[in-house]
Amino acid sequence: MAKQIPLVDYLVLGDDPHLVAHECTSCGARFFDRRNACASCGRTEFSQVALPTEGEVRAFTIVAFAAPGIPTPFVAAMVDCGGTSVRTNLINVPPDPEHVALGMQVRLATQVVGTDDEGTEAVGFGFEPKEG
Ligand SMILES: [Zn+2]
Repeated sequence: MAKQIPLVDYLVLGDDPHLVAHECTSCGARFFDRRNACASCGRTEFSQVALPTEGEVRAFTIVAFAAPGIPTPFVAAMVDCGGTSVRTNLINVPPDPEHVALGMQVRLATQVVGTDDEGTEAVGFGFEPKEG
């Protein structure tokens, strides 16, 4: 199997891919990017928490125009994962209002987004509809 590296550092690969957030140990606010201080309370201590891999679509938009090289249309969404909002794209679903809805149940899915000269795969994530 090819060596794989996550496209973003809060994506954990392996047998059970999941997202990891930094959680403020003082107020519980969660952030995906690294922070020097909590945006909510200003404290500087964080712990790492694994997020549930399933969630619910809270907001979405169908993007028709994007930078050159990015295939459109695609679905940009906010997904609630156990109380944490994740900014993501919806994948493995037709990008139209008949197939995407608020409240839709989705789950984390990974996809290879590129391969370098040594064959190392860069892996990104999106959320796909949960069957059943
Ligand atoms: Zn805080």
